[in-house]
Amino acid sequence: MNHILVAGAGPVGLTAALALARRGFAVTVLESGDDLAAESRASTFHPPTLEMLDDLGVGDELHERGLLSPTFAYRDRTEGLVAMLDLAVLGDDTRFPYRLQCEQSKLTPILLAHLREMPGFAIEFGFHVTGVGQKEDGVIVTAADGRAETGDWLIGADGAHSATRRATGVTFDGITYPERFLVASVDEELTGWLDDLASVNYVFDPVEWCVLLRTPDHWRVLLPTPVETPDEQEFARLDSRLRGVHDPGRPWRVAHASMYRVHQRVATSFRTGRVLLAGDAAHVNNPLGGLGMNSGIHDAVAYATALATGDDATVWAATTDRRRIALEYVQSVSHQNYERLRATDPDARAAHLDGLRATAADPALARQSLLRSSMIASLRPVPA
Ligand SMILES: Cc1cc2nc3c(=O)[nH]c(=O)nc-3n(C[C@H](O)[C@H](O)[C@H](O)COP(=O)(O)OP(=O)(O)OC[C@H]3O[C@@H](n4cnc5c(N)ncnc54)[C@H](O)[C@@H]3O)c2cc1C
Repeated sequence: MNHILVAGAGPVGLTAALALARRGFAVTVLESGDDLAAESRASTFHPPTLEMLDDLGVGDELHERGLLSPTFAYRDRTEGLVAMLDLAVLGDDTRFPYRLQCEQSKLTPILLAHLREMPGFAIEFGFHVTGVGQKEDGVIVTAADGRAETGDWLIGADGAHSATRRATGVTFDGITYPERFLVASVDEELTGWLDDLASVNYVFDPVEWCVLLRTPDHWRVLLPTPVETPDEQEFARLDSRLRGVHDPGRPWRVAHASMYRVHQRVATSFRTGRVLLAGDAAHVNNPLGGLGMNSGIHDAVAYATALATGDDATVWAATTDRRRIALEYVQSVSHQNYERLRATDPDARAAHLDGLRATAADPALARQSLLRSSMIASLRPVPA
């Protein structure tokens, strides 16, 4: 039985570990933290990701903790609802024709609980990967505290600042957006304030575009924030910006708020010898469209499937294919989402909104659009 090391116990590393363990591999996960990360970040699971997690035996538990979101909405700050897209038109394309709204911090404990029942599974917390060495038939991974682990392969799923990626000398090309994204989780019920809300709402505006997302615990408001202002200043004016979404005549109840720098970057190679990069270690993108974690989970399952063949060329093909999808699909769709939300040219904006209304009104057009936004088209050929 091959022994596979996985750096990082985020959603991607633990999915890779479970997909490998289900295929009979011994797996050791090396995680720098003392426990699983509690930060919520990703909150949208797309249909193909739900299929993969269900195939791994964790679908029911994830559904119990999440909210079904059969529709999502495009809105305009001033006009209100522009178009409501209904994933029911994907009924023949997937057994999960909806998004599931659930924080990534709810998925990782489920994955770990299942892993702990698998023979040959181990996890080392407090293992901060600093070095990766390779021989022809294996890898040795070293930690800051001097610990070392050997395996036949290493999957680097240690996030955007991946030590695995840096240790293998792979560069991370791309751009950093000038704006930062401010995400506020609020203890408010937005459906009482705004008409025609779905659980996921993309709100167009040339100046103050935003995203309104429902998670099981909160509504979240994502706002763009200039790069040059100090964080404290942005947090101080958050309430006035939230009151621009709706003014309840009192301050919004904000549970917590976080500021993120946002990048579009893809590693120059997803494979170096016996080291494979997955998830944010391999590619990062803006959160508009909810593609980052989802595509990382797709990497994890693709690598486990390829490694199970025992065929080196198949493993190369999987990493090459996942990099192609990161470039051609994830980077392109997420950047397009960003450009459209903030478009300033009135004619281009009007044409885009008209296009969205026409798409929502025509089931065939809606299906084509949803096959792409739900990531199904990134993974398999779809019948017309
Ligand atoms: C505001 C926001 C909203 C988002 N919304 C969505 C969404 O709705 N849908 C979506 O698909 N994506 C979304 N994303 C992106 C998503 O959060 C990431 O793509 C996802 O977390 C990537 O998972 P990962 O397992 O690759 O990396 P991470 O979640 O970053 O996990 C990496 C793990 O590796 C560990 N680690 C780091 N360094 C080391 C080391 N040297 N040694 C050992 N372990 C290490 C970390 O402690 C961590 O546990 C969002 C991101 C943000 C910021």
